[in-house]
Amino acid sequence: MTVRATSRGAQRTSLEGTRAEVLICGASFAGLAVARELAGSGASVLVLDRYEIGERQTSACACPTPWLEALGLGGSIKQELPYMSFTTPSGSARYRLPWSWSSFDYRQLCELLWAQCGDARFETAKVESIGQRRADGSIEVVTDRGTICAPLVVDALGWRRVLSSPHYQPPQAPLSRGLEVHPPHDGSGDALEIWVERSIVRRGYGWRVPAGDEARIGVGSYDPNQHVKEPTVALAARLDSDAVGYQGNWFPHRLRDATENEIFFAGDSAGHCFPLSGEGIRTAFYFGIACGRELRKVVEGRSDRAAALAAYESFNSGHKRPFAIALALQRVIPALPPRLLTAVLAVIGNQRIVDRAFGWYLKQAAPQFADPAQPPNATEQSEERVLAGALR
Ligand SMILES: Cc1cc2nc3c(=O)[nH]c(=O)nc-3n(C[C@H](O)[C@H](O)[C@H](O)COP(=O)(O)OP(=O)(O)OC[C@H]3O[C@@H](n4cnc5c(N)ncnc54)[C@H](O)[C@@H]3O)c2cc1C
Repeated sequence: MTVRATSRGAQRTSLEGTRAEVLICGASFAGLAVARELAGSGASVLVLDRYEIGERQTSACACPTPWLEALGLGGSIKQELPYMSFTTPSGSARYRLPWSWSSFDYRQLCELLWAQCGDARFETAKVESIGQRRADGSIEVVTDRGTICAPLVVDALGWRRVLSSPHYQPPQAPLSRGLEVHPPHDGSGDALEIWVERSIVRRGYGWRVPAGDEARIGVGSYDPNQHVKEPTVALAARLDSDAVGYQGNWFPHRLRDATENEIFFAGDSAGHCFPLSGEGIRTAFYFGIACGRELRKVVEGRSDRAAALAAYESFNSGHKRPFAIALALQRVIPALPPRLLTAVLAVIGNQRIVDRAFGWYLKQAAPQFADPAQPPNATEQSEERVLAGALR
């Protein structure tokens, strides 16, 4: 069970009337990536979260290793996984990827990211809603510790998109649901393992992510109406593991507008989680960095809020195609007969196709983007064709 570290009682003084130049709501992957881009800008940056930084793990915490290295987060890695395996009812396939996954320690990663956020200030507060617009154009945000005001406001609060109206409400929203357990592990294994079996979950997949002294075993359903506790417990039992250390959440599977009512949205709040794979950490970093760069231009006087909102929304829209491809695959793959799916997995297993397909996938939010000297990644049509051909 999570031990709550968040300050309570007398330590929770009122924040009523606090002003900042940039107010970042949410201190997980997306919010911290935004704050990191503002380090050294001289702006007053306030980051809010209902929990202390790193207190509440939100995922299986597996991310492409090149992203962790590019952000200087290698110190949080628990286990590197150069392989992926896929099991269906009629067979299995194992791929050596052109890059590796790494499972990491959530608290350590957040602390390492926060250490790169310069003079940004952090407060624990529950963000409740958007308030009034002030005459000077700044925006009020209502929290359980009072109303805070800033001209530049970011919602990095996850799938609920708290600063939007109306909020997303499962199960009527384009959300998937996931649950996992964290049994002890002996550090063995070199693969991120995936199960695509309708007997586990009708539309979704199961996973095991080895992470040093623990494994993260879970099930995700693309159908928000399907409960995943029973399948998670069953998968853990099948893997001779105890169903202990539960953790679950919703995660989006549709890209949304990245700006609304002059607010910036990054990470799950903007649907920046790839459909099909449910991978949302690297994309939260990626879009968080893009958002932070636009905000930095404003606080340094090189742009204004309207231009930053337009540029960030345009950056977001530029990624519609890969998200749409992944969503189409999310609909098609669960409907494939298991034998056909196994045959497709065998075809993709050709090393040349693995390299190109997974190379294409990484490029949709490439780690080079973390380096400001590198241009944004371009979609490589030829690799899309190889992937589409293999799945046809
Ligand atoms: C079971 C499961 C396993 C997953 N495994 C992986 C994986 O291995 N790899 C991967 O890439 N993706 C994974 N995902 C998806 C991934 O977790 C999300 O896409 C990712 O966490 C999005 O990051 P974020 O910063 O946008 O939002 P979040 O990580 O959800 O962070 C939102 C932050 O906002 C805070 N917050 C929320 N509401 C409020 C409020 N009202 N007031 C104040 N603070 C608030 C929260 O405390 C949190 O710190 C998984 C998802 C699930 C459910």
